[in-house]
Amino acid sequence: MYTKRRIVELLKETDEAAIRDLFRHADEVRKEFAGDAVHLRGLIEFSNYCRRDCLYCGLRRSNGKAVRYRMEVPEILAQAAYAKSLGFHTVVLQSGEDPYYTAKVLGSLVRRLKEDLGLAVTVSVGERTYEEYKTIREAGADRYLLRFETTDPVLFKALKPDSHHAKRFLCLDWLRKLGYQVGSGNMVGLPGQSMESLADDILKFQELDLDMIGLGPFISHPDTPLAGCANGSMNMVLKVTAITRIVTRNAHMPATTASGTLDPEGRQKVLRCGANVLMPNLTPRQYREHYLIYPDKICIEEEPAQCRSDAENMAAALGRTIAADAGHSLKMAHLQQP
Ligand code: SAH
Repeated sequence: MYTKRRIVELLKETDEAAIRDLFRHADEVRKEFAGDAVHLRGLIEFSNYCRRDCLYCGLRRSNGKAVRYRMEVPEILAQAAYAKSLGFHTVVLQSGEDPYYTAKVLGSLVRRLKEDLGLAVTVSVGERTYEEYKTIREAGADRYLLRFETTDPVLFKALKPDSHHAKRFLCLDWLRKLGYQVGSGNMVGLPGQSMESLADDILKFQELDLDMIGLGPFISHPDTPLAGCANGSMNMVLKVTAITRIVTRNAHMPATTASGTLDPEGRQKVLRCGANVLMPNLTPRQYREHYLIYPDKICIEEEPAQCRSDAENMAAALGRTIAADAGHSLKMAHLQQP
């Protein structure tokens, strides 16, 4: 049992040997509870329009420099079919908060992905109403990703001025009730974020009993109010990943693109201290450079096939395999599902 005090101590730890022990322990827990197979999720960023104005994000509505794009449904379907031909079993549909895509439209898209392609489908389109989540779930969506970003209500309000902290958690609650496999997560190294607040985030991951946990470093975007703020540190990302793995045991945890952007070896490092998932970018090339939630994002140039083989090589270099199944939740409640 890790208390908040113990977690803060570990986050502040500077002794190299103690940090190595922490990472080794996390790697063992990952091996025991999530196995050696790395799950690949194909990420399709289908729209970068956003109605929100989050201070950290390059897609915020006030960023007039962002070149906006939307993919129409047939184009998204074609890209998902391509993902399937590359051997992906799951696609993640992500966008800014873009009301252009109604729940009905998203639902019919999900239905095609399930019925025609047999893919596991993860949706990540931000905050919606209960009814909208229900429509999308009933169309067959398996999973939903909605990071709570930070547990600190004051920091949340400062960074997401047009969003409500309690509403974000209510959304997570609805998603769970609707039978989605639920993913959440945070950013590490946000301006004004304390170690105590990071420890609260980790305890919140545990309390929510999440199926998936995605976390990465905050990376400062020059065209946002947080331009010039310090980025999160890789060391802190590794510690948060390791402790999260240890306390949550069998959650699926991606080594995120943000970690790979901050440090060229970032994703490999994260895979060695708790992570078990990679999310290769399968957004069509012409749009990818415009989905800039933070600058200098990696994998802007590669073809999707290249992203897949890079992921395979990364897993192999770590002595790990690539999972052959859809990679559903490892939690008991979801193992009962057909
Ligand atoms: N609109 C969706 C998807 C958001 S983008 C939603 O609200 O859920 C996915 C994630 O990128 C966000 O949840 C956030 O954690 C992360 N992100 C945004 N800006 C970032 C930045 N500057 N640095 C690092 N991560 C960032």
